[in-house]
Amino acid sequence: MATALQAVRGMNDVLPDEACAWQRFEDTARDVFERYGYRHLRVPIVEPTPLFVRSIGEHTDVVEKEMYTFDDKLNGDSLTLRPEATAGIVRAAIEHSLTYERPLRVWTGGPMFRHERPQKGRYRQFHQLDVEALGFAGPDVDAEQIVMLARLWRALGLDGIALTINSIGDADERRAHRAALIEYFERHRSDLDDDAQRRLHANPLRILDSKNPALAGLIADAPRLLDGLGAASRAHFDALRALLDEAGIGYTIEPRLVRGLDYYNRTVFEWVTDALGAQGTVAGGGRYDGLFEALGGKPTPACGFAIGIERMILLLHAEGATRVTAPDAYVVHVGERAGVLARRVAESLRDHGASIVLHAGGGSFKSQMKKADASGARLALIIGDDEASVETVAIKTLRDGGEQVAVPLRDLHARFAALNTSKDEYGCL
Ligand code: ATP
Ligand code: MG
Repeated sequence: MATALQAVRGMNDVLPDEACAWQRFEDTARDVFERYGYRHLRVPIVEPTPLFVRSIGEHTDVVEKEMYTFDDKLNGDSLTLRPEATAGIVRAAIEHSLTYERPLRVWTGGPMFRHERPQKGRYRQFHQLDVEALGFAGPDVDAEQIVMLARLWRALGLDGIALTINSIGDADERRAHRAALIEYFERHRSDLDDDAQRRLHANPLRILDSKNPALAGLIADAPRLLDGLGAASRAHFDALRALLDEAGIGYTIEPRLVRGLDYYNRTVFEWVTDALGAQGTVAGGGRYDGLFEALGGKPTPACGFAIGIERMILLLHAEGATRVTAPDAYVVHVGERAGVLARRVAESLRDHGASIVLHAGGGSFKSQMKKADASGARLALIIGDDEASVETVAIKTLRDGGEQVAVPLRDLHARFAALNTSKDEYGCL
C-alpha cells in the first residue's frame, strides 16, 4: 500500500464540522463591513519579495524569520507567500491608481503564511480578514474601524474582547524616541537576548515587541514614545480617544504597544481576549501614513486592521457559540416509484430554499434511517411505493420525540416549514 501523505506542519484542514463556525464568522463580518461601506477586493497570495521587505521592514520577525520565500523557477525572481495582506492591497492601489481621485474603503480575506512554531492559535498557514481605509487622514476613520469591530463582536455574541490603543507618533518623534531607546538598551546590553542585541541599532522599537518574558521588566521601564508625542500626533490621539468615548467603547492605553510590522505610525490598536492563553490577540491594526510613498506611490494616509480567523473560531468554540452544519431533511426512499417521487419532492423543497439530502445508494428503510439520524437533519421524509401511489410523504421528526405524520403532497410545503424550525440563518443546528 502506498504511504499516506499528510498536510504540511502548521497548515490545517478545515473539516465540515468546523465549517459552520467559519461561515458564520465570515458572513457576519462581511455583513458588518458592508454596512460601513467597505468594498471587497482580492489580491494575489504570492507577491514579489521586496514588497514585504520594504513594507513590513527588514528587521522584523516576519521578514527575518517567518517568510516563505522561493525563486520563480522560470526567471529567478524572488517571490514570497504573503505573510499579511496590507502590502498587497497598497501595491494594488498604487498599481491601479485606486485612491488618488477619492479615498477607498476595502476589505479582503484569505490565507497568510508565516513560518512560526505551530501551537494553539499560531499556525504556518492561517487566515485573516483584512480591512483598509485608504486615503483618509483620520482620526475619524481610525475610530470608525474600532467601532466597526466592536459591532462585529456584538453581532457574534462575543464579549470580553478588550481594546488596547497607543500612539507611536510620526517619523520625527520616532527618530527621537529611537535614540532614547538605543541609549537606554545600551545601558542594559547584557540583559538583552540575541534578537534584541542584533536589532539594538537597526530597529530598537522592535525590542518593545519582543515576546521573550525575560525582557518584560526591561521593556516596561523603557522610554515611552507616548510621552514625547508632538502636537499633531497628540491631537490625533486625543481626538481618537474622544470619538471612542462618544461611542461608549472602553479601552486601555498601552504605551508599549508597537505592533510587529514597521509600517505603522500614530494610531495602533489590538483587541485581546484572555480566553485563548498566550495567543490572545484576535485583531490588530493601525495607521500607516507613509506606506504608499515607501512603495513608490503618492502620499496617501491610511488605516487598517486584520482579524485572525483561527483565533476567532477558537474563541467562538470557547464561548460555546459554534454549531454544526446539518441539512433540513434527509429523504429516505425504497422502491422505483418512491424514487421518482423522492427526487421530485427534494427538488421542490430545494426550490423553496430548504437543504435536502436525498439518500443515494439504495438499501433497506432501516439502513437508510440510520443514515438519516447520522446526518443531523431535523426531519426525515420517508417514501415507499405505498406512499408514492397515493402521493403522500411521511415526515418524521428525528429528535424531540420522533413523531411521524403522513402528509399529502399538496400540504407538504406548509407542514415542512412548520416542522423545520430549529436552524439558524447559516443552515447550522
Ligand atoms: P502575534 O503577536 O500573535 O504574533 P502579530 O502581531 O504577528 O500577532 P498581525 O501581523 O498583527 O499579528 O496579524 C493580525 C492577526 O492575525 C493577529 O492578531 C492574529 O489574530 C492573527 N495571526 C497572526 N499570526 C498568526 C499565526 N501565525 N497563526 C494564527 N493567527 C495569526
Ligand atoms: Mg507574530
